[in-house]
Amino acid sequence: MIITRSKWGIGLIAFFTAISLALVLNFTGDYTPPKYKISAENVVEIKEDVELDSYGFNVIDAEVEEGRVKRNQSLYLILSDIDVTPQTIYEINRKSKGVFESNRVKPGQRYIVYRDAESSKAYRLILHSDALDYVIFEWKNAINVSIGQKEVTKQIVEASGVITSSLYESLVEQDKNILIANRLSEIFAWQIDFFRLYPGDHYKLIYEKQFVDGKPYGIGEILAAQFEHNDITYDAYYFEGEKSEGFYDSEGNGVQKALLKAPFKFSQRISSSFNRNRFHPVLKRRLPHTGVDYAAPTGTPVLSVGDGQVTEAQYRGANGNIVKIRHNGTYTTAYLHLNGFARGITPGTKVRQGQVIGYVGKTGRVTGVHLHYMIYKNGQPVNPLTIDLPPSKAIDESERSEFENVMKRLKEQMEEVKDQENVASALSTD
Ligand SMILES: [Zn+2]
Repeated sequence: MIITRSKWGIGLIAFFTAISLALVLNFTGDYTPPKYKISAENVVEIKEDVELDSYGFNVIDAEVEEGRVKRNQSLYLILSDIDVTPQTIYEINRKSKGVFESNRVKPGQRYIVYRDAESSKAYRLILHSDALDYVIFEWKNAINVSIGQKEVTKQIVEASGVITSSLYESLVEQDKNILIANRLSEIFAWQIDFFRLYPGDHYKLIYEKQFVDGKPYGIGEILAAQFEHNDITYDAYYFEGEKSEGFYDSEGNGVQKALLKAPFKFSQRISSSFNRNRFHPVLKRRLPHTGVDYAAPTGTPVLSVGDGQVTEAQYRGANGNIVKIRHNGTYTTAYLHLNGFARGITPGTKVRQGQVIGYVGKTGRVTGVHLHYMIYKNGQPVNPLTIDLPPSKAIDESERSEFENVMKRLKEQMEEVKDQENVASALSTD
């Protein structure tokens, strides 16, 4: 018996039969009828164009309805509402062990019920934990509980903007994803102090926009970005090779430097700058202020400005709770007057750039809540706001030509992206 998926199949079989008949005639000179001939009777057709939904289920004979979990609605209640018997619910619950915690059902979660079109009996429930992940409960024949994930599709898109007050506001004006602001400030954290942008600074970028079920779902990789700050243009191109991965400028130098510009995720006001001749407000005498004070609220997370190793994490007199991190042979940073240390921050611990190491407080000899932040270069305190930090690793030489191809293509694409001058002009009409 020959099974074919569609009418095309029948056509193809007839075509090949004709060819083989022709071949038989050509090579043997005389015609012997084949033992089995193909006729419409012994061809079984499978239904054409099986319609699958976005979960991969056949919905031809199904009624599908959507709902949201209500307050105090458990999995038991959802299932009994669609007339699943208590015994079946008990079995579903038993089969869920290790796959799904039934006490994790929260109001607002999306679910989908599949019913038999003829009998209206429900036989499948899909419960979403978020836009992407879901659990499938099935009880038509055997009871089965499994997990699934929606497909994320990507589209390459562009964005550009002009800074008026903050990068965040500039992106909100354009209704772009706020995540872009975060990612841009991460890419350029080593060149630009995002807490001190200038009106008129502008940026462009090419990035991957993600979709689930045709609806926007966050952003993927930023492929290229350009930021013009204080009349200097910074470029970053994403490259992923065998040996190099990250953002590089058009020369192939790593964009990411050794240390972040500030030990915070969000802007914090500087209450006292680096000053070698400062009059100390508590001691009433001249005492150099060899760090920067940030007037951040109590409990604000403090980030390590670079990869490194904790060399000190303790209470030390006037310094209060202090964390010191050695980044390399040249640079060490210190964070003083902390309210407390982040979990696991002890001498010897390795930390990553951007990792939370402690929280702003007012321990030690202080007049108020603040973080005293210091950078030591070769053991000497230097001004964190003016220090010129060294560049990080460049592209590996073996991958330079590959990088240049990628970079040139992105650069050309970037030149096509229009500047968003209208944002600034729209706001300057008052
Ligand atoms: Zn200070």
